[in-house]
Amino acid sequence: MTRVAFFDTKPYDKTWFDQLVGQYDVHIHYFESKLNENTAPLAKGYDVVCAFVNDHITKDVIERLYEDGVRLIAMRCAGYNNIDFKSAFGKIHVVRVPAYSPYAVAEHAMALLLSVVRQIHHAYVRTREFNFSLNGLVGFDLHGKTVGVVGTGKIGKIFIQICKGFGMKTLAYDPYPDKNLDVEYCSFEEICKRSDIISLHCPLTPESEHLINKETINLMKPGVVLVNTSRGGLVDSQALLEGIKSRKIGSAALDVYEEEGELFYEDRSATLFDDDTLMLLIAMPNVLVTSHQAFLTEEALRNIAQTTLESIGEFAEGKVMPNEICYQCALCTKEPNSRCF
Ligand code: NAD
Repeated sequence: MTRVAFFDTKPYDKTWFDQLVGQYDVHIHYFESKLNENTAPLAKGYDVVCAFVNDHITKDVIERLYEDGVRLIAMRCAGYNNIDFKSAFGKIHVVRVPAYSPYAVAEHAMALLLSVVRQIHHAYVRTREFNFSLNGLVGFDLHGKTVGVVGTGKIGKIFIQICKGFGMKTLAYDPYPDKNLDVEYCSFEEICKRSDIISLHCPLTPESEHLINKETINLMKPGVVLVNTSRGGLVDSQALLEGIKSRKIGSAALDVYEEEGELFYEDRSATLFDDDTLMLLIAMPNVLVTSHQAFLTEEALRNIAQTTLESIGEFAEGKVMPNEICYQCALCTKEPNSRCF
């Protein structure tokens, strides 16, 4: 039986993994802690660790896991910017869930966009207090506005479709444009200059880190709306805050934040925390923050559990793992139908 140490467990993870685990020769031990240098020893004696977006899978963590017998890291998410891939290569295989519901994330991006543009977050609070005034709630139509989509992979494509349904004009930037996609591709600079709304759907890489910064914000139209459901590190939060204070940015809808690691997914309502930038962002009337929840639909959670357990099963049986990734994937030279190493 394959033994899995499951880190950063939340009740909704357990619900879906427990429903499906009986179909596999797998035993899961759930740990609430995040995986990091302090908690890595908990995985001693396990074959697999299952990790999530805010676990810190550094070189030291990988070395410790390897020493303790772990041979697979199963990421139950699509993004993998939190793993030191070079350290893992040759030692511990890594799998992910490349797509569990791109609709979940794209629909959440639209929900956030509609909320900030139509002030739903303020209207909700007002009517709960029987304040039925409309003063200050004037929004604008999305119809006819130009949305710039950064990253036209699985989620970006669906977001473009949704925006078209709203009658919006769509622009896109992607270093690897999809020739079959009915969208006007342009440079990132043009996205900044021409868009009324900018929505980020690209991965966090060294090239994309702080893609939204002081200089790129300066290029944008006054009143631009920024939506980020991708990764916090794409946006320089301090520059975003300055952009909001200077009125350059009309509103921001954020499902991710660059320093979210120790905050998001936890109830911090009764504790003080030290992140002044996040506190100021949340305090802004034209900023809406959700806690990295864009993926959180029943369909996505079921697919995450199923795909992760399938990958663990393939690993245990010595099979090729179609969802395996490594640092060489972009320039892959391996035999088709083989493992990364
Ligand atoms: P994908 O791999 O299908 O598509 C990513 C696209 O981004 C690709 O077309 C790629 O060419 C492009 N890209 C790469 N570097 C770029 C850059 N510097 N500028 C512009 N485009 C670039 O990925 P996906 O499934 O569409 O997911 C996109 C991102 O969404 C993930 O990387 C992840 O960070 C994020 N995500 C967030 C949540 C959430 O809950 N908030 C859930 C899932 C995924």
